[in-house]
Amino acid sequence: MEFCPECGAMLLPKNGKLECGCGYEKDLSADNDEYEVSRKVETEENVKMLGEDIDLGPGVTEICPKCGHDKATYELKQTRSADEAPTRFFTCKKCKHKWREYD
Ligand SMILES: [Zn+2]
Ligand SMILES: [Zn+2]
Repeated sequence: MEFCPECGAMLLPKNGKLECGCGYEKDLSADNDEYEVSRKVETEENVKMLGEDIDLGPGVTEICPKCGHDKATYELKQTRSADEAPTRFFTCKKCKHKWREYD
């Protein structure tokens, strides 16, 4: 319960404000800032992703046809129609050579 700072009468809630018979008004939305505090928890997960190969996709054991290295990353790409299986494209971790999977 709040009282008018002008005349000391009890303030009555009306249309989102507190009003007094003397004409004083207090805007209730102005001191509703409690929501700001609970917002800061969500950002922690983004920190853990830093490490090697972050932008290269999942790693697989695959022999590079160019340099013979046996570690590569791949990405799946839908080549032609959607009812065909997507093709895997490999990227050699050592020489960055790219090639596609042969069936
Ligand atoms: Zn008043
Ligand atoms: Zn290679």
